Amino acid sequence: MAENTPEEKNESKKSNFIREIIDEDLKTSKWEGRVHTRFPPEPNGYLHIGHAKSIMLNYGIARDYNGKFNLRFDDTNPEKEEQEYVDSIIADVKWLGAEYEDRLFFASDYFQQMYDYAVDLIKKGAAYVCDLKADEIREYRGTLTAPGKESPYRNRTIEENLDLFERMKKGEFDNGEKVLRAKIDMASPNLNLRDPIMYRIVHAEHHRTGNVWCIYPTYDWAHGIEDSIEGITHSICTLEFENHRPLYDWYLDQLGAYHPQQIEFARLNLNYTVMSKRKLLQLVQEGKVDGWDDPRMPTISGLRRRGYTPEAIRNFAEIIGVAKRDAMTDIALLEYAVREDLNKHTLRAMAVLKPLKIVITDFPDGYEEEIEAVNNPEDPSAGTRKLIFGNELYIEEADFMENPPKGFHRLVPGGEVRLRYGYIIKCEEVIKDESGNVVELRCTHDPDSRSGTGTSKKKVKGTIHWVNAKLAVRVEARLYDRLFMVEDPATEENWLEHLNPDSLVIVSNALVEPSLADAKSGMNYQFERTGYFCLDSKNSKPGALVFNRTVTLKDSWAKSIKN
Ligand code: ATP
Ligand code: MG
Repeated sequence: MAENTPEEKNESKKSNFIREIIDEDLKTSKWEGRVHTRFPPEPNGYLHIGHAKSIMLNYGIARDYNGKFNLRFDDTNPEKEEQEYVDSIIADVKWLGAEYEDRLFFASDYFQQMYDYAVDLIKKGAAYVCDLKADEIREYRGTLTAPGKESPYRNRTIEENLDLFERMKKGEFDNGEKVLRAKIDMASPNLNLRDPIMYRIVHAEHHRTGNVWCIYPTYDWAHGIEDSIEGITHSICTLEFENHRPLYDWYLDQLGAYHPQQIEFARLNLNYTVMSKRKLLQLVQEGKVDGWDDPRMPTISGLRRRGYTPEAIRNFAEIIGVAKRDAMTDIALLEYAVREDLNKHTLRAMAVLKPLKIVITDFPDGYEEEIEAVNNPEDPSAGTRKLIFGNELYIEEADFMENPPKGFHRLVPGGEVRLRYGYIIKCEEVIKDESGNVVELRCTHDPDSRSGTGTSKKKVKGTIHWVNAKLAVRVEARLYDRLFMVEDPATEENWLEHLNPDSLVIVSNALVEPSLADAKSGMNYQFERTGYFCLDSKNSKPGALVFNRTVTLKDSWAKSIKN
């Protein structure tokens, strides 16, 4: 699969081939000026970022053309579907801001209509009840190069078919004993037209219709009818349905029913993750992740828990655009979109993930000094906050090196560095434990170097963040990385073996500035120099805060800030 080129991305941002079709339809009044789209998920799993692309595409078109957008559950498969999935999908669609107003529909509400339509086809001699077993049907179907074979039940009389179909509905037969098939053409070069199955017997309770039905429509029979009933104008779907289109058209032609126009686009593929619902379910069921909303999952609920915003996901959908051929999108592009958004509106704060103590020996013990910090350099209206500087602080362990390589601009023995919003300090002494680990630094400060007000002209190359040792709040920080180590895990035979063992690193004793003790759930924060974070909605509790890192900061602010 090729990567999307930047030109393609820019191109699609302005318009796309689907919008061009709609523009043309509006010119020719093909649908009397109507534009009506839908998002038709099957409630057999949680939505992922690929679904978000489809939602934003369909909803965006309805919004921009003053049209309508439906949310419709394609709930035709009771064995795999659950109310939990329905609820999560509704929550995700709303969170993304795709407004469907009162147009929430369920395919199961159309079961009677679908049944009546099937009876119509039987009466026209265009459908029949077949007793072949599933494997026999497969065998009779032929291949791409060999034509299929007609079922021995194909020429049952209309009366017999009507009787058997009704008895299928009444529950007189077991699962798999009979199916209803369309009578089309067993020699068709399109395998979808070789007498496809319309109904199968499934004795299972449906999450909405209970035990009313024991025959259920197949996806191919149901899908076109659902679009037709709802008066959809542009039925947008992914490329794999291109060769199902003649079948949908055949059904609706036979029924003399309203036809939407189907338009296919390339699905979103993201590297370093999997997107098939079956695989995502397996990760959940085998406990490889902490549920569908694990922050490493590509699900909408996972991204939300990780701290992604709807704006970021919408912008991402906008950047990738729509294409007619499959491509692999770099997950870095998704991260770019979230950084772009979070940079604009997150409050800044200081947090130390791996603390190293420093004592500023030329301040008295218990020293406290109030200093002012900017809440968001991108947004002056966010104001400032007070920080308490002190004689005992913690800095990031990685911001000190005893034997630094060339170009290391942070703290070294005898060297100087600026503490963000505070003073320039000098490392005078390195204290170690018995094993030789650095446990504390003794420093002095330059009293004229206070950030903003100091008179010192001294320049240092590095500025590092810190927290006050006495006032800092201990929290847990969860740092995430790609879920898989390989770019396209779905193509690997043992795909589960390629999980990234370091995709979650738990830092149990991070220290954050006191203002973060009041961090709000659902808010995003930028911990200066360490990334964007938010409270973990599942594990964080007052007094025992857990922060998820949404994404790292690409470039440190060191270049851009003025001390
Ligand atoms: P499956 O059919 O295997 O259960 P699915 O991902 O196709 O999985 P649906 O619930 O049928 O799940 O998807 C709902 C809609 O989302 C469909 O219209 C489908 O085309 C679209 N969609 C699914 N995956 C992607 C993707 N990766 N990129 C874009 N659109 C997608
Ligand atoms: Mg599907």
